[in-house]
Amino acid sequence: MNDRSFDDSFTASLRTLGDDEALREFLQNAATIHRVTLAIDEPNGQSFAIVGESSWRLPPAHTCWLAEAIVYDGVNIGLLRLGHDPLRPEHEVEPVLAHVRIVLDLLLHHGHRSAVSAALQEATMREHVRQVTMQNEELRAAYEHVRQLDRLKIDFLGTVSHELRTPLTSILGYGEMLTQGVAGALSTEQLEFVSTIREKGEQLLQLINSMLDTAKLESGTLDVHRSPLLLPPLLEGVAATFVPHIRRRELRLELDVSTDVLEIFGDAVRLRQVFMNLVDNAIKFSPKRELVRLEARLVVSSLGEFSAALVEEPLSPTVAYDAVEVRIRDRGCGIAQDEHGRIFDPFYQVDSSQTRKHQGAGLGLAICKRIVEAHDGRINVESNEPHGTCFVVTLPIAPPDRERRVRLRGSLRP
Ligand code: ADP
Repeated sequence: MNDRSFDDSFTASLRTLGDDEALREFLQNAATIHRVTLAIDEPNGQSFAIVGESSWRLPPAHTCWLAEAIVYDGVNIGLLRLGHDPLRPEHEVEPVLAHVRIVLDLLLHHGHRSAVSAALQEATMREHVRQVTMQNEELRAAYEHVRQLDRLKIDFLGTVSHELRTPLTSILGYGEMLTQGVAGALSTEQLEFVSTIREKGEQLLQLINSMLDTAKLESGTLDVHRSPLLLPPLLEGVAATFVPHIRRRELRLELDVSTDVLEIFGDAVRLRQVFMNLVDNAIKFSPKRELVRLEARLVVSSLGEFSAALVEEPLSPTVAYDAVEVRIRDRGCGIAQDEHGRIFDPFYQVDSSQTRKHQGAGLGLAICKRIVEAHDGRINVESNEPHGTCFVVTLPIAPPDRERRVRLRGSLRP
């Protein structure tokens, strides 16, 4: 097609209707077969096409021998002219004009159909693009709005938690002073009341901190500063912190850290927060006199996708261990298999009598998951056999340590 421009309204003309090439080819064939000269002019007098032997002279439009207007849909779109051959009688060439006219109509009609369908297609596309652009704009505006709300939420949470934390710290401090007898000796009952005030205050402080962490994680402003970090002392520190809780609950806490577990690349404060949370949960959900275990060992992970533990006992010097797996096992009420996928969602709590007994906001595991993932690690939950829960945290070991292990493996090869 030649020179077609489709505006919203379609204008009929030789150029918008016809397929130029097909039209010219047909005219050329007709001229050769019938041995005539054919010409088509546009309404403005410009020549659209002229084909045939030059010997068959073609007179100017107004004096031409045979001519017929091309009218399409009530619009005059051109003039078809037949060249003058003085040797041929008029009745012999007249049917040529009629034949050419019929085929021309067919070609124009066909051209019109494809032109209209192309115009329709283009209009549909344009409408589609307009709608998508509009939706994009709306989405962008909504996203900006949400971001603004998010910022407001974080600012609000930051301010509120700061405002709550300051008086709470005083309450806890004065509570401690009362317990220590700074303001005079307390009776057993008074001591009990003060220790309840302190316990609830600590819970409140923990909740405020969790909410602040969640807000920071949601907005991506929680900083994780990673550096080479020795995991065994960190885990020993966590276990030591819980000794009083363990004693109070008459539980047993076992720490089993393989001597091969050395350095990872992590944020000591944040990882301590993760393991404290998991051990705290294990203690919370364990019945009296039960066992809580904290284990750490080297594992092999594949292509960044941590697989289930592939540990050989004893450790093989020919295997390139590249991750540490920390398992926190308890023999408590356990978590039903169908809850495993949801317990890492913020504010999600398993609806059980055990959960209702222990207060919490359902934020701890969501925070743990984000922190572990910020360390390129994974956290999963499994059932601890024969009963209880086992949380598995897998963290990549520090690059220098990894290189050392790979070198070690290489040097042992025959
Ligand atoms: P919370 O701060 O409320 O304990 P978490 O995010 O730490 O929230 O845990 C979410 C839920 O997962 C808990 O409410 C509890 O139902 C379940 N859960 C977590 N750890 C254990 C566990 N060791 N044993 C049984 N249930 C657990």
